[in-house]
Amino acid sequence: MPDSMDKGHKESHDYRILNDAELITDIKWQAIINNDPAYNNEFFYAVKSTGIFCKPSCKSRVPKKENVCIFPNAEQALLANFRPCKRCKPTNEYLPDTEWVELITEYIDKNFTEKLTLESLANICHGSPYHMHRTFKKIKGITPVEYIQQVRVNAAKKYLVQTNKAIGDIAACVGIANAPYFITLFKKKTGQTPAQFRQRSKMEEKYNG
Ligand SMILES: [Zn+2]
Repeated sequence: MPDSMDKGHKESHDYRILNDAELITDIKWQAIINNDPAYNNEFFYAVKSTGIFCKPSCKSRVPKKENVCIFPNAEQALLANFRPCKRCKPTNEYLPDTEWVELITEYIDKNFTEKLTLESLANICHGSPYHMHRTFKKIKGITPVEYIQQVRVNAAKKYLVQTNKAIGDIAACVGIANAPYFITLFKKKTGQTPAQFRQRSKMEEKYNG
């Protein structure tokens, strides 16, 4: 029994050396998964996909391991252009609201083709949905959901003018699986259906070209 346990342990250790390039040890990864405050003075972890760094104790969603970088202190994480998490405040200061909203905006711009909800966005951007909704609206004048819709409609306009893709395909390309909902949203935002918008811009092109 002890023999086989030993063997198992050794194998996972070797695996780690080969694949994780000593960037993140099992001990550190366990500290992150368990939100262990005992490690708060030992290291900080940054998440490449969000640009945010945290204390090990942060209660934010556990990131994908391959996106995590480890820093011995907050200064180095800042130097590497990561921004402090709003929730665990690794520099013991608040991230200014404008910077936080900028971060959320960037995330939406890059990921609007994926399924995005206020909850998932808040989770990824380290805040509560309610607080994010309010702060975003205060800074940008529209809610995060309205911003997502705006980005999607703008992207759809490009597809309508520059491609011959079917309306349903365009809906899917901009992150809206439900085509009738896409048409309703597009009309609400632009005053035209996607088909009307496409037709009108083709006409304009004809006259102007
Ligand atoms: Zn955090």
